[in-house]
Amino acid sequence: MEADVRSEVTAWIEAHWDPDRTLADWRRDLFDSGWAVPSWPARWGGRDLPRWAEDVVARALAAAGAVGLPLGVGPGLAAPTILEHGPDALRERLLAPTMTGELTWCQLFSEPDAGSDLAALTTTARLDGDEWVVSGQKVWNTSAHHADVGLLVARTDWDVPKHNGLTYFVLPMRQPGVEVRPLRQMNEHRSFNEVFLSDARVPRDHVVGEVGAGWRVALTTLAFERRFGAMARPSFAPSAGRAVEEAQAEAAGYFETYKWYPQRAGRADLVVSQAQATGAASDPVVRQEIARLHALQRASRWTAERARANLALGRTPGPEGSIGKLALSHVARQAARVHSLIAGADALLTGPDSPLGGVIAEVLVSVPAQSIAGGTDEIQRNILGEKALGLPREPAPDRDAPFRDLPRNG
Ligand SMILES: Cc1cc2nc3c(=O)[nH]c(=O)nc-3n(C[C@H](O)[C@H](O)[C@H](O)COP(=O)(O)OP(=O)(O)OC[C@H]3O[C@@H](n4cnc5c(N)ncnc54)[C@H](O)[C@@H]3O)c2cc1C
Repeated sequence: MEADVRSEVTAWIEAHWDPDRTLADWRRDLFDSGWAVPSWPARWGGRDLPRWAEDVVARALAAAGAVGLPLGVGPGLAAPTILEHGPDALRERLLAPTMTGELTWCQLFSEPDAGSDLAALTTTARLDGDEWVVSGQKVWNTSAHHADVGLLVARTDWDVPKHNGLTYFVLPMRQPGVEVRPLRQMNEHRSFNEVFLSDARVPRDHVVGEVGAGWRVALTTLAFERRFGAMARPSFAPSAGRAVEEAQAEAAGYFETYKWYPQRAGRADLVVSQAQATGAASDPVVRQEIARLHALQRASRWTAERARANLALGRTPGPEGSIGKLALSHVARQAARVHSLIAGADALLTGPDSPLGGVIAEVLVSVPAQSIAGGTDEIQRNILGEKALGLPREPAPDRDAPFRDLPRNG
């Protein structure tokens, strides 16, 4: 079966890949052929194949030097969420331009008073004729400064328990009611934003799933986010044609936002060479900590492989998402610890003569984000305790009361 898929997709790529086409034109063809996401239903642009077919296609594209799917929130979170929850009109309109990269997305979930407790959000949407009118404030919204559309969760009913009054929308970002203000981070990057919504407009039919059922849809997005993992930068042959040049420019723009993410993950890849270069490799304590890091990395990789294998076999994802996310936090923290042991106080320096030109300092101030983004370590532990181990649920006295009656900050 795998060999059949490989030869069929290879033949299709040979017949259709032309590096001088525009990127959008090539990706549209790839999507229309069903090879962009072969595991999707044929009705929505796939081929009804098992998940493993996606790896086969990715390898065939790479072998031919052909461009694959775009990166980011659109293909990673928006498309699978809309595919799962619909409605058909949004699937029809949004899936193709999302998978070709023509439409760029951001995630508008968190608020100043609703992060881990996302269901406490207060951004409100009310129906006015054929439009939803949305007001409130979102925060920590990665890439909102260049997104066309946002995945928005807003409250549409204040008189029911907090999880029942939420609705999931697709918000057009480029409109007067949406103000995006970049935030400067402690590592000097500006990858996320505050987003102020003042009577922003959403077409009535831009609801993902049902009105009032937004919590269930949001959980789908969060499950995909946990699986997001590290993003590999695509590599192409130089000057290989128009589609490749456009893909390179797209990847450069994308990684401008995410360029500190390798540092956020701890740069474990630099540990051994730094230990050798500085002589710290002969220190038994440093050696022991490097071995510990290595063991954590191995275990984390095996968890990710187990999750991939389960998905490829069509099994329902188990606790690997939360375990994997926790493991990445452990790896990042341990890598930062080892870098500090090796560099000592110099790890804090950022000038050109500092360890690796400031990269180690950037690791130290970026690693904390690893255990916050996409759900904190504590929240992953709660999920594992309750869903995987069957421990009693956290007490939640606010679960059943109408949201309007709950005490809130301010
Ligand atoms: C790099 C990065 C990118 C992000 N990108 C986006 C984005 O694109 N879109 C978006 O909407 N958001 C984004 N976020 C926001 C992120 O989802 C939130 O920061 C996260 O959910 C935590 O919420 P919070 O910051 O409000 O912290 P809080 O929820 O206030 O948590 C504060 C502390 O309390 C702990 N805590 C809270 N509740 C519990 C509990 N029940 N049990 C035990 N401990 C608890 C937490 O673990 C944490 O240590 C991003 C964050 C980061 C760091």
